[in-house]
Amino acid sequence: MASLSLTGLKKSFGAVDVIKGVDLEVKDGEFVVFVGPSGCGKSTLLRMIAGLEDISDGKLFIGGRLCNELQPREREIAMVFQSYALYPHMSVYENMGFGLSLNKTPKAELDVRVREAARILKMEHLLDRKPSQLSGGQRQRVAIGRAIVRKPGVFLFDEPLSNLDAALRVDMRMELAKLHRELGATMIYVTHDQIEAMTLADKIVVLDGGLVQQVGSPMELYKNPVNKFVAGFIGAPK
Ligand code: ADP
Ligand code: MG
Repeated sequence: MASLSLTGLKKSFGAVDVIKGVDLEVKDGEFVVFVGPSGCGKSTLLRMIAGLEDISDGKLFIGGRLCNELQPREREIAMVFQSYALYPHMSVYENMGFGLSLNKTPKAELDVRVREAARILKMEHLLDRKPSQLSGGQRQRVAIGRAIVRKPGVFLFDEPLSNLDAALRVDMRMELAKLHRELGATMIYVTHDQIEAMTLADKIVVLDGGLVQQVGSPMELYKNPVNKFVAGFIGAPK
């Protein structure tokens, strides 16, 4: 598990300020959801935490360690993408273990970790399949499995369910909640879906225009939205 601390984080692409000074504390084991309209900077902020975007200004601490200059693999994180990004020519087993084999993890250790992830995700019987032989939900599980095997302190999810149909999204939402309980890891989850945010989050961060509008539990935001934007987005009557 790992805590996070963001102080005055900023990101510009050329002359365009996209993240304009974000302060945020995330506790060990917390499930934090970033919500906000398309283009508000959710993915950019997540990618800065992941180390996939440079930080223009401010400080990022993960597990108490200043991470601004650290490569993604040096951070205690694993990211799950919307697009899954699976290797089509590799089996489920190989896809899940690929990152570990790059890190020269011994084969026996890799085997234990892949089988443990497959057990958690109920995919033990699918380890020999290729991605093309899997359903959308199963592919998404492989992408999550690839993160689990790395045993990160922090999981980063960028709209992981948005390519799935509505019924499957509900199932996967329950599975993610269960995964969080089982692993106890810190999770940061980006979505533009209010229902996902309200059902999964310990803490919701409402973003708009590159700034945090409000941080609070789903109930706090619902009962006491600080402005019309938050009220409208969370769906509270105000
Ligand atoms: P969200 O995930 O909330 O939809 P993004 O973080 O993807 O929003 O994007 C926020 C803003 O930053 C958008 O206006 C987007 O066009 C811009 N942006 C994102 N990545 C880049 C980039 N690599 N270069 C220039 N602008 C970018
Ligand atoms: Mg995005």
